[in-house]
Amino acid sequence: MSTSPDRQSGLATSRAHSARVYDYILGGKDHYPVDAEAGDAMCRHWPALPVHMMENRRFMHRAGRFLAEECGIRQFLDVGTGLPTSPNLHEVVQEVAPESHVVYVDNDPIVLAHARALLQSSPEGATAYVDADMHDPDAILDSQEFQELIDLDRPVGLMVIGIMHFILPPDDHRLVRRLLDPLPSGSYLAMTIGTADFAPEEVNRVAQEYREQGMPFVLRDLPAATSFFDGLEIQEPGVTQVHTWRPGPEQDGVDGRDIAMYGAVARKP
Ligand code: SAH
Repeated sequence: MSTSPDRQSGLATSRAHSARVYDYILGGKDHYPVDAEAGDAMCRHWPALPVHMMENRRFMHRAGRFLAEECGIRQFLDVGTGLPTSPNLHEVVQEVAPESHVVYVDNDPIVLAHARALLQSSPEGATAYVDADMHDPDAILDSQEFQELIDLDRPVGLMVIGIMHFILPPDDHRLVRRLLDPLPSGSYLAMTIGTADFAPEEVNRVAQEYREQGMPFVLRDLPAATSFFDGLEIQEPGVTQVHTWRPGPEQDGVDGRDIAMYGAVARKP
């Protein structure tokens, strides 16, 4: 596992962290009291937050399955993985193709501490975990794990799910491009992007709460969300709220006002 220089402070239990707040709100067990307090405050601002987060996670499941089943993708780079919550990406794609490789990346020490659960690959496939920050894409691309598991002569699925609201302009586009650049034609970008387009007051209050808890946060409108896919071939149905992207029966009855996330999958020509 690689560790970038600014990541040596270890587990910070005195400040909320996004991975643990997400775990708390989704009903997981891997968080500290400070994360639960932050999560409770956010849910007071917007009671729909758990629904929104669950639908973001379910988009990841459907997008991963789409890439494995319909696009034939067999290697994945997942940036901003989060704490293990079954099904994780490798479980989704290895169910379609057991030989699939998945490289996970996150910058939270607690995700690192739980990474073992991400490494339970099918025997035919392989998974690895890289402890790195998206602000340092070269640390990801140069990592031994990426080099060993990802064959750059074959297409790759780049998953950037539920993390872009923590990646601020002006670096945001450059960082995504840097990760896409080495990937061959026929690779895909699957991404979700936080927005206040549907419940502006509530979602902006949640964003402000994240900022006050020390986590920089940015929301984007539809043109800004769509701009991440410039030069790529956006797959049907386009850039949509996550619950309306190739929905399944689970999405029946989801209220659009509860979903503050755009999502799309696009092919690199
Ligand atoms: N992709 C998962 C988890 C989303 S939660 C899902 O959609 O279900 C967001 C994750 O991004 C957290 O685990 C957090 O630790 C991670 N993260 C936030 N900023 C990051 C950064 N700069 N580099 C790497 N990971 C980051």
